[in-house]
Amino acid sequence: GGNKVIVEQHRHEGVFIAKGKEDALCTKNMVPGEAVYNEKRISVQNEDGTKVEYRVWNPFRSKLAAAILGGVDNIWMKPGSRVLYLGAASGTTVSHVSDLVGPTGVVYAVEFSHRSGRDLVNMAKKRTNVIPIIEDARHPAKYRMLVAMVDVIFSDVAQPDQARILALNASYFLKTGGYFVISIKANCIDSTVPAEAVFASEVKKLQAEQFKPMEQVTLEPFERDHACVVGAYRV
Ligand code: SAM
Repeated sequence: GGNKVIVEQHRHEGVFIAKGKEDALCTKNMVPGEAVYNEKRISVQNEDGTKVEYRVWNPFRSKLAAAILGGVDNIWMKPGSRVLYLGAASGTTVSHVSDLVGPTGVVYAVEFSHRSGRDLVNMAKKRTNVIPIIEDARHPAKYRMLVAMVDVIFSDVAQPDQARILALNASYFLKTGGYFVISIKANCIDSTVPAEAVFASEVKKLQAEQFKPMEQVTLEPFERDHACVVGAYRV
């Protein structure tokens, strides 16, 4: 089409915004010509004639995208980062993290459902920086041979014991001075108390496990009663 789309760098390195009637968050496609989950792709011609393709990143389908649009100060992921991703599902968000960290980065993606895991493994065939791991994140010893030390752990397992799962994985794989990003779905943890109380008690659990929570953003309006907490490890 003849529509000229302008794509700009987002404040977060490796993330972009396609300017239009409605701005869209996007990442630079590592595998041009291919979508992962039928997301929209945007092709842009550079001044030197080379083409770049971006994939639109839907915040209704990705908590990390929702956190970015929610104004999170730092995601601690950028080109070249090593990321351990817990709760990868079929790899929707993992594919964007793969774009974001690029060919010099790596995403270790852990998912225990074999059903979702099949899509994840297929996606990883074309994305050499994604290492799919079909295991229970409660048992990191089972995949320790596959994972190197990482810069950041992103956790989206939606389990009542998710703080413990994050801590266990951090003790194996997160470097001292590394970071965590965790999505908290209040009613997965305790549906009998207000969401804010659940977030506060999760933050306490993290503090008790050598994490230093630094910021918290709501994922509303994209996800109801969800928060994203970001912080450092062993500092
Ligand atoms: N992060 C995904 C995305 O943005 O596309 C969505 C993740 S979904 C909310 C939670 C996922 O965590 C599910 O796919 C579930 O099977 C997985 N999960 C839950 N407990 C797990 C565990 N102990 N080990 C590995 N995966 C787990």
